[in-house]
Amino acid sequence: MAKTFRNLIDGEWVAPSTGAYFDNRNPADTTDLIGRFPDSDAADVAAAVRSARRGFARWSKMPAPVRGDVLRRVGDLLVERKEAIADAMTREMGKVLAETRGDVQEGIDTAYYAATEGRRLFGHTVPSELQSKWAMSFRRPIGVVGLITPFNFPLAIPTWKMFPALLCGNSVIIKPSEDVPHTVHLLVEILLEAGLPADVVQLVHGRGETVGKALVEHPEIPVISFTGSTETGAIIGETCGRMHKRLSLEMGGKNAMIVMDDADLDLALEGVLWGAFGTTGQRCTATSRLLLHRKIHDRFLKRLVDAAETLRLGDGRADRTDVGPLIHEASRDKVERYIEIGREQGAELATGGKSPGGRLGRGWFFKPTVFAGVRPGSRLEQEEIFGPVLSVVRIRSFDEAVRVNNGVRYGLSSSVYTGDVNLAFRALQELDNGITYVNAPTIGAEAHLPFGGVKATGNGHREGGWEVYDFYSETKVGYVDYSGKLQRAQMDTYDV
Ligand code: NAD
Repeated sequence: MAKTFRNLIDGEWVAPSTGAYFDNRNPADTTDLIGRFPDSDAADVAAAVRSARRGFARWSKMPAPVRGDVLRRVGDLLVERKEAIADAMTREMGKVLAETRGDVQEGIDTAYYAATEGRRLFGHTVPSELQSKWAMSFRRPIGVVGLITPFNFPLAIPTWKMFPALLCGNSVIIKPSEDVPHTVHLLVEILLEAGLPADVVQLVHGRGETVGKALVEHPEIPVISFTGSTETGAIIGETCGRMHKRLSLEMGGKNAMIVMDDADLDLALEGVLWGAFGTTGQRCTATSRLLLHRKIHDRFLKRLVDAAETLRLGDGRADRTDVGPLIHEASRDKVERYIEIGREQGAELATGGKSPGGRLGRGWFFKPTVFAGVRPGSRLEQEEIFGPVLSVVRIRSFDEAVRVNNGVRYGLSSSVYTGDVNLAFRALQELDNGITYVNAPTIGAEAHLPFGGVKATGNGHREGGWEVYDFYSETKVGYVDYSGKLQRAQMDTYDV
């Protein structure tokens, strides 16, 4: 009998006020029921906010290095449980174990980075324009932070948000994706075990349209951080704009890899297989467009198709698996629709394009797919599919590659394979993305650098690195005048 999970509200594991639950199933085998999770609503969110406000009052006064120590212990516990969490994550999300181990490692790195940030959290001390006056800026915690996360990085993305928010002295309420609720349950258990006061973290499971919406609309949550699709981000952005909330949006991508005629083709082939079909193409940074220079186009395409056909589909927990399933039926339906759209718009299906069936029929599997002859501007080339579908575009020059790369509404990551150092630096400057890789695929972010994109991918904030600490803290300025007299800025002058 599958376990029934609960929300964490005010330090207690409690049933949802609705009394309703949803099933969490293994996408590689939908007969495998992982557990039943709360289908909560706005009343649960309201209770979580009341408790989180009390948590904030205490936690915000704790010295930042002490808050950092708690996060260091969280990192230690993640190290201890890495294997168990990776296994649980693959079971509910589908990606292969090597990748879910990487997902946990990202959480570990983020925890240790946050721990050290507790001894930095720098402000500035600058000279005043007046004598005997001190001028400085410093950071303050903000309040209760609402976190809404997607399915594809079940641990890493929640930690990217939670750890810096907590380190800065905020309390957090998290609503994980309803597709992967178990991983965040395991993470929250660790936070409590590491000594985080129980009212500083609240976990409310449920659907986006109810729990997510209630978080976004709650007047006592001044900060929202969201990662997910651009469509959902737009809905959230409207509400947050109206309510004057601080909002970080990390959304979709349509990332391109450019392979020039002087590239190391073996390296580029390995890179594109990993970039396009790793995580079954369900990464915001997945390589979904391949821009091939005409001089190497035909031979590279042939090698790519041959290699894609050797990738082994299966349960991500089996050793031999290269590519796991898609997350759910709706996702597979969407990929199937794009196969039709690609054909209708004249692209050539070079390999894949269907589900494997047979022994994999109980999961949401889909064959690694390559479309050739994809036209810039067509839907296949423009829209985020979020599956193992790669669109190949033939290009004549680097300038054309830049135009095609920049000709989509998204701007997350890009990559160029070339031996020409001049082109490499032009790519860094001219490709309109938050992240550009040289001689590496479009994926592979590191926890201590800022992560995010331009245009419809984001709203100007970054996750990770040092920049995210700006998002989760309020800058305050202090002036101390020790001259003992009234001094007037911009008016009092000095004879030099
Ligand atoms: P999604 O937008 O369907 O859901 C994301 C989260 O938002 C879920 O927790 C969901 O329950 C919640 N939600 C849905 N409707 C809501 C509403 N009206 N109000 C509040 N919350 C709501 O996205 P997904 O399918 O889980 O994830 C895939 C998407 O996420 C892709 O577009 C991908 O590119 C993007 N993504 C972006 C990044 C990034 O850093 N840029 C990282 C990972 C994923």
